[in-house]
Amino acid sequence: MKLLEGKNVIITGASRGIGKGIAEVFGKAGANVAFTYSSSEAPALELEKELSAMGVKAKAYKSNAASFEESQELVAKVLEDFGGIDVLINNAGITKDKLLMRMGEEDFDTVIEINLKSVYNMTKAVQRTMLKQRQGSIINMSSVVGVKGNAGQANYAASKAGMIGFTKSVALELGSRNIRCNAIAPGFIETEMTGKLDEKMVQEWRDAIPLKRGGNPEDVANACLFLASDLSAYVTGQVLNVDGGMLT
Ligand code: NAP
Repeated sequence: MKLLEGKNVIITGASRGIGKGIAEVFGKAGANVAFTYSSSEAPALELEKELSAMGVKAKAYKSNAASFEESQELVAKVLEDFGGIDVLINNAGITKDKLLMRMGEEDFDTVIEINLKSVYNMTKAVQRTMLKQRQGSIINMSSVVGVKGNAGQANYAASKAGMIGFTKSVALELGSRNIRCNAIAPGFIETEMTGKLDEKMVQEWRDAIPLKRGGNPEDVANACLFLASDLSAYVTGQVLNVDGGMLT
């Protein structure tokens, strides 16, 4: 039997990058995948087709994770379409990097709303279902930047550190109902988000990583597979670094 056979999963922000990698690995593991996107409709529909061809149920939803109302509506639709939710992966995220000197209020608020408020919105929306089922796994995509900070990313680092505090609190609140909540802290994962960066700087980063390479979405997806499945049945409230040894 496949590791996630018959499990219903919601992934936010899976039209590309890490979220897409998670959807693909989960589809192969037998999970039914409901996923969201913000504006990339064509790639989202393409992924929906790719996953359906694996023989699992898959559906793309346009939904802004930063909106409380849209998150409620999304979860209601997913419940109608899939009949349950076993795993939630809060992956949607953006960057708006600037030194604090130049960081406007909007740069700060938007990053907090999309990266952190979204985690509250979605967790709140699935909570009742998971409580009724008396089981669930919630995985929050934080970052090594949330653990150690980074110059030029005060807004992003604050959002990712906030996710860790949220994760640990939810693990404490919901553990008695067999609902687990963990965070993943990816290091440097090569996606579109990092494709905007200067190649020389990127090569210097790769050289400084103990495993001597950037990670790929599958590296992160495999850690999610562990946290989503019963292999991690006794793991909650943790932050799993997937960073090639960067923070060691
Ligand atoms: P990405 O390639 O930029 O993809 C971001 C995804 O989030 C896209 O699917 C995007 O949808 C979606 N999204 C953006 N805003 C949204 C919103 N308001 N509502 C719903 N979906 C939204 O990013 P990535 O590199 O895969 O990163 C994924 C997560 O991992 C993020 O939380 C990021 O902070 C975290 N992370 C990444 C790295 C890294 O090195 N790449 C390292 C540590 C942590 P559209 O395509 O429609 O815009």
